[in-house]
Amino acid sequence: MPPILRDKADTVHLKRGLSPLWRDDLEVQIGVEERISHRLTLQDPREYLILEALTIDHTLPQLRGILIREHYDPSRADAIVGELVDAGVVQGPTRGASQLSIPRPARELLAPAAESRALTRDDDGWPPIMDLVASSVHVVGLGRTGARVAATLAASGVGHLLLTDPSPVTPRDCGLDYTQADIGQPRDAVMRSRVRSMPGACVPFVRTGAETHVTVMVDCGVYDILRARDLMYQGSPHLLVLIGEASSSVGPWVSPGHGPCLRCLALHSTDEDPLWPTMATQLANSHTLGARGEDPALASLVGCYAASQVVAALTGYRPPCADLTIAFALPDYSTRAIRWSPHPECGCIAPVTGQDNDFAPSEQAA
Ligand SMILES: [Zn+2]
Repeated sequence: MPPILRDKADTVHLKRGLSPLWRDDLEVQIGVEERISHRLTLQDPREYLILEALTIDHTLPQLRGILIREHYDPSRADAIVGELVDAGVVQGPTRGASQLSIPRPARELLAPAAESRALTRDDDGWPPIMDLVASSVHVVGLGRTGARVAATLAASGVGHLLLTDPSPVTPRDCGLDYTQADIGQPRDAVMRSRVRSMPGACVPFVRTGAETHVTVMVDCGVYDILRARDLMYQGSPHLLVLIGEASSSVGPWVSPGHGPCLRCLALHSTDEDPLWPTMATQLANSHTLGARGEDPALASLVGCYAASQVVAALTGYRPPCADLTIAFALPDYSTRAIRWSPHPECGCIAPVTGQDNDFAPSEQAA
């Protein structure tokens, strides 16, 4: 009996989303993506009944019974399941049952994420989801883009959300996460209510003054220098989402002490234009961008991308936008990536030796 099946009553099934596909009379391919698919050569077409049965839960005795009814060697059920286990395309019973601590509606909400992740992992996909449930994220700035970040994080299972933006919802915010009925109410109060009432939401709640694992700064024009400085002092990871004039950007993901910080970016910008600090100060005090509002498709695109970076980090992966700013530009929503290096004058990481030219930002196609 394959090791994932310890008991006769244990069930096994193809990982959700995988289909058995005939290639020829005896060869079947499970899945199509190269990194997760497997080709199986059958000894007889009747063995396909095993694959067909595995699209839902079956025990090994049940699978053997299918072949017995076909007057066929039942031991082939064991051999086929064993091969599929080795190939990582079947899922056995959930042993840890850790997700049972999540209310049932939330389990159903999060099951697609867990089952999708199971395709690239050896487990049932729930451990990273449980990491999200135990995580705390602070989203600052809740225009259309920031609201998308918050809603996507809540739907992804982030269990604790701190939302900050007391400015009132305006008609220019509506359409994605705000409605006409929200106009005039504080954005953060509306979004707290929205994520709490999300069907099956993992009970995200607001923390005040509590430590957060990640802060998402959704700023207009220029980043909030004081907030970034505080986060660096605290050693707290943060992600910059910047609403620009005709573009918005995500990144870099700042992990203090490991790569460039937001001050590094400002120093690089100053290297390129010595008068940048003069303009940045004025921009920080200008409300023109914020009052204009945000293109809905751009806000949705950028907000969801930013949330995906946070989810990646909270589930143990290096966010793709670490060291990078990914800019999404109007009018065609094209992307470009700007790679950053620590600035030698910043001091946010250990002093770096080498030539100054090594630290200039570089652009590359996204
Ligand atoms: Zn720095």
